[in-house]
Amino acid sequence: MRTWIVAGNWKMNNTIAEAVALANAIKDGTASIKKGEVILAPPFTSLQSVSQTIKGSRVALAAQTMFYEDRGAFTGEVSPVMLKDIGCTHVLIGHSERRKYFHEKDADVNLKVKKALAAGLKPIMCVGETDEEREKNVTRAVVGRQVKEGLRGVDKIDNVVIAYEPVWAIGTGKVATPAQAQDVHAFIRAILREIYQDAAAGIRLLYGGSVTADNISELIAMEDIDGALVGGASLKADGFLGIIKNIAKQK
Ligand code: PEP
Repeated sequence: MRTWIVAGNWKMNNTIAEAVALANAIKDGTASIKKGEVILAPPFTSLQSVSQTIKGSRVALAAQTMFYEDRGAFTGEVSPVMLKDIGCTHVLIGHSERRKYFHEKDADVNLKVKKALAAGLKPIMCVGETDEEREKNVTRAVVGRQVKEGLRGVDKIDNVVIAYEPVWAIGTGKVATPAQAQDVHAFIRAILREIYQDAAAGIRLLYGGSVTADNISELIAMEDIDGALVGGASLKADGFLGIIKNIAKQK
């Protein structure tokens, strides 16, 4: 039985005061929910304050990216050791905005996934095709490559979470249909089964892309969708809590 996950990716939003207020609201709003995992991914500048705010609660902390070395002359980067130190349990790896604006390739994603695992962090590895790739009918080729290359050399999959986020659905209001999302999730699980056999059944696969409290119920009803990675709708407590409550009702 897979427990659901809802992760909020705040991207480059919120001052420290705003981050603490939002984290407090999520902490209070989820206190009575017994199952599942709720994860917040604030920007680096708010990690410390949010970490203190959620201490002792059921809310966990993620970073939005990391570098694949522990320390050294890598100006501007943050290491997995530093993220653990500040209280992170998870880290987003290979978000499409990292791939697009910061030129992260599958090989970088792979190094980061392996380094995160070695440091005791759970990577949430993001994959997904662009609009153009979907139109060219190469969704499976692209997502299949991202999954296989991202996990190359990863022997133990238990601590990995995969987020399928079609790029055309991120921040656009154009959510994938439940059937489209399920199709790719089932495809990803089949790849995992080829590589990791029975362990694949326990891996959480999240959908991301314009998720709201209104559309999550249909998506989460799908067999291979185990939760959501949420951008825009995670910036308002009501919207994010609505998503969490609708998932908790069903799974
Ligand atoms: C994201 O950036 O991971 C995301 C899913 O964004 P949004 O929910 O805004 O589409």
